[in-house]
Amino acid sequence: MTELDELPLRPELRGRTPYGAPQLPATHRLNTNENPHPLPAELLADLGESLGHAALELNRYPDRDAVALRADLAAYLSRTGGVPVEPAQVWAANGSNEVLQQVLQAFGGAGRTALGFTPSYSMHPIIAAGTGTAWVDGHRAADFTIDTDAAVAHVQQMRPDVVFVTSPNNPTGTAVDLDTVAALYEATEGVLVVDEAYAEFARTGTPSSLTLLPGRPRLVVSRTMSKAFGMAGLRLGYLAADPAVVDAIQLVRLPYHLSSLTQAAARTALAHTDALLATVDAVKAQRDRIVAALPGMGLTSVPSDANFILFGHFADAPAAWRALLDRGVLVRDVGLPGWLRVTAGTAEETDAFLTALGEVAPAHRTTLGD
Ligand SMILES: *Cc1c(COP(=O)(O)O)cnc(C)c1O
Repeated sequence: MTELDELPLRPELRGRTPYGAPQLPATHRLNTNENPHPLPAELLADLGESLGHAALELNRYPDRDAVALRADLAAYLSRTGGVPVEPAQVWAANGSNEVLQQVLQAFGGAGRTALGFTPSYSMHPIIAAGTGTAWVDGHRAADFTIDTDAAVAHVQQMRPDVVFVTSPNNPTGTAVDLDTVAALYEATEGVLVVDEAYAEFARTGTPSSLTLLPGRPRLVVSRTMSKAFGMAGLRLGYLAADPAVVDAIQLVRLPYHLSSLTQAAARTALAHTDALLATVDAVKAQRDRIVAALPGMGLTSVPSDANFILFGHFADAPAAWRALLDRGVLVRDVGLPGWLRVTAGTAEETDAFLTALGEVAPAHRTTLGD
């Protein structure tokens, strides 16, 4: 067996571990924030047809610019985001992770720096490393909110080329105030990326950063079909920004990066948007049910605008994680001392989770740090 150390690997990648939630067998897998509801039958039927149709053309390269798909995504954002979005403002790729990688390829890279406010999405620093972009940890307050003045000061001091804000934040769940986003935009000369993977789950009255796009050419809002749309297997993420940002990304994207099958499937899914998003309210109801049940077990949570909840406190979170897994419930240990993260899904999943947690909580909870 050749060891990694024996390969001429880039020095900044040495000693790193690949991203990955453990894909363990468990009766209830509540660790990767997927939507567990089955896809609507009409969508599955239409997918059979549209993919069959696209297959007839598989001898040809796909539309390199995914024009029709970007128009459909722009229409969805215009309908739901609170601001008109033109197709020229939209770019799509294989998951928002690829979108973010392309953003860093265009605006980060060697000799450049990205800053994000941790704890946040662990892929942001990993994509930074992969693109040769230096990473700086910005900080959150003890309650996981971003202190706007401190964040602005940090950005002004570090002058990063790319700033990441995840809203609603993963793994903590809370949406970031638009005032904070606007202040960070003013504070940076670089590109400000707002990762809105969970936007559709936000509590009523939580505006999207899409509404800040007019007049802010360095603002990028990224979205995905992996979460609320329930199509994690499709691999379709997208961004909205000034058309010039889309032009910049064309400089680094691989030609034909988005297969004809992906484009066809995504367009078909978007034609069923209302049916797909019909499960969002049900998931939010399960989220709110979990949040409401925690105090009765002597536990607490961070306010959630997402389809997951960060809950605690535990004396030893990895031990509590193991005890839940022993009861068939797989949650996520995100490495925050005292906390675990659970995905909200179906009512049956909530029942199983709350039952297991009720058994586990007495031996594992702690009030330390409250
Ligand atoms: C899940 C998630 C994504 C989604 O990535 P895809 O590549 O679109 O599946 C992006 N950002 C955050 C914060 C996430 O939690």
